[in-house]
Amino acid sequence: MARLLSSEPQKEDEMLVSLRPANLSDYIGQERIKSRLRVAIKAATMRGDVLDHVLLAGPAGLGKTSLAMIIANEIGGKLRTTSGPVVERQGDLAAILTSLSTGDVLFIDEIHRLPHPVEEILYSAMEDFQIDVMIGKGPGARSVRLSINPFTLVGATTRSGLLTAPLRNRFGMIFEMDFYTMDDLALIAKRTASLLGVKIDDSSATEIAKRSRGTPRVVNRFVKRIRDFATVKVKESLDMETIEEAFESMQIDQNGLDDMDIKILSKIAKDYRGGPVGLNALAASVGIESETISEVYEPFLLQGGFIARTARGRILTQRGYSVIGESLI
Ligand code: ADP
Repeated sequence: MARLLSSEPQKEDEMLVSLRPANLSDYIGQERIKSRLRVAIKAATMRGDVLDHVLLAGPAGLGKTSLAMIIANEIGGKLRTTSGPVVERQGDLAAILTSLSTGDVLFIDEIHRLPHPVEEILYSAMEDFQIDVMIGKGPGARSVRLSINPFTLVGATTRSGLLTAPLRNRFGMIFEMDFYTMDDLALIAKRTASLLGVKIDDSSATEIAKRSRGTPRVVNRFVKRIRDFATVKVKESLDMETIEEAFESMQIDQNGLDDMDIKILSKIAKDYRGGPVGLNALAASVGIESETISEVYEPFLLQGGFIARTARGRILTQRGYSVIGESLI
């Protein structure tokens, strides 16, 4: 995820930069989103307008930041990045907005976490390209209306349900991103391997895809770790033997589940007799933040059919039981 205004980007992110697709044709999968974006970008360019604001919603690692970069690239604007929790005061956002040039793209990651007063500044910025800022403090304070250059806001959120209606309604395009198909993940594995300069055949790419939780970022992480194993064994390609060995050492099972997933499933089975269990109770018994469960682990456990959500809480499914079957005995 983009870490804006941070002067020390994380190493892993630096390494990922070169793996990021630079334009829409490099961006694998999400065909429906790409085709709608292509039309909107072309129409805006033909009319000489700025592109309408775009909201990207979906679990972490699905390519929201990459898509924001691609949008800026495709429309020829500069990209400015920030994230909801970083922009603490109205003045912070006003400073960013007034520094934008016409046609720039402002990417706000985790936009659902913008403090409410900051979010309110966005309303008129998005709709009329104007902002109201308070000058001074106390009784002498007055509000001044400033014009800003027309820009495109790209918002990303892992929790589209938490977005307020006034903010959501101001986006011209709202894309709910889905987990990737096996075929697309295998293509991403091949693309990443080729960018990293290692060989991979179809069945190996498929094996990595199967364990990647529908998520391109996970594919990239696996390809890099498996490449480490290949390097140590002085192999030029990521073959099945190396892949099996790497997954074994990372303790990733056939379905892509790790130790924490198994712990979550086992807790539901043992402590709550298969559920239903509420999110907070589950988080407390597993020993991690409830947000981590709901944003990192749960989306894939739900999508893979290992758990299900009911009105009274999470329950373990047949598939969930079959995965932990052995560890329950
Ligand atoms: P998010 O912002 O949704 O957390 P990112 O845009 O940071 O996700 O994507 C994570 C990584 O996955 C990127 O570095 C990129 O290399 C890769 N990636 C994401 N989507 C795609 C895609 N559609 N095609 C190829 N690679 C992708």
